[in-house]
Amino acid sequence: MKISEFLNNGKVGISCELFPPKLGSQLNNAKEVVREMAKLSPSYMSITYGATGGTSEYTVDIANEIQNVNHIPALAHLTCVSSTKEKVHSVIEQLKEKHIENILALRGDIPREADFPLPNQYRYACELIADIKSQGDFCIGGACYPEGHPEADSIQEDLVHLKEKVDAGCDFLTTQMFFDNNIYYNFMYKVLQKNIKAPVIAGIMPVTNSGQIKKIISLSGNMVPPRFKAIVDRFSDNPAAMRQAGIAYATEQIIDLIANGVDHVHIYTMNKPDVAGEILQNLSEIYIRN
Ligand code: FAD
Repeated sequence: MKISEFLNNGKVGISCELFPPKLGSQLNNAKEVVREMAKLSPSYMSITYGATGGTSEYTVDIANEIQNVNHIPALAHLTCVSSTKEKVHSVIEQLKEKHIENILALRGDIPREADFPLPNQYRYACELIADIKSQGDFCIGGACYPEGHPEADSIQEDLVHLKEKVDAGCDFLTTQMFFDNNIYYNFMYKVLQKNIKAPVIAGIMPVTNSGQIKKIISLSGNMVPPRFKAIVDRFSDNPAAMRQAGIAYATEQIIDLIANGVDHVHIYTMNKPDVAGEILQNLSEIYIRN
């Protein structure tokens, strides 16, 4: 099923994210995680794509497991920055063979010591999106950044390129994680001003250990609100308390988003079905699963 079909049906949806294994020997464990996550009946499950493209077959394997074994719509991420166009085309073909209809089309982070772009590479996600569109009847998602992409000189410049990306054929957008909902609401005003009409799924990351937060900030430049910083400062030495507080914080963010009319939230569950399960349990009267 295409994600675009249920984004506009007026019902609240919650989706989850997994990452693929690095080694084939870990594939069975990864499939067990898919099974556990599927029991929570998310509206779809996304599977990330390794930054170098070296584990692309596992992304396809796990997308297949999500959709064709566990019967939950799968969203396969696909990055292009570390691959040739031929390699990307072969992954698109594999997804087509497995009837995976949803692709999150991304550029990926530019590798530090690589010559980029080479003649047979895509330079920006919008080029990849246009190409996927020409290769089949896919529902295509793109990434967006409520705090601006770290490479962009300004949010306004980033929004100009976001509009190009949507015009190239994006059916929906998913945000980078944010820890203050006002950042999302302000971003949505700017999106509307730019006449960007694609639905924008809010991405929420439950931070359940202190190591995660340092990595997140260094990778994405996220703003950390004082309320969230106080939790990390107070509980980072106590793993059980940090986990509980992180789940509560993410739950509150999601309740506020739904209360303010956001119809779809994507949880960056990072292969943790237990964390996803607790959040959904906290929302048991708020989010009624199909
Ligand atoms: P783009 O949309 O191409 O944008 C990259 C930068 O280029 C931006 O600063 C933009 O403003 C600028 N730009 C865009 N078009 C133009 C243009 N025409 N001219 C000039 N500048 C332009 N990474 C992974 O490796 N694997 C994953 O599975 C993965 N999943 C992700 C999922 C989500 C929801 C998000 C938000 C990010 C994900 N990422 C993933 C990280 C992502 O790959 C990086 O943030 C990457 O740096 C940018 O990818 P993009 O698709 O947003 O790029």
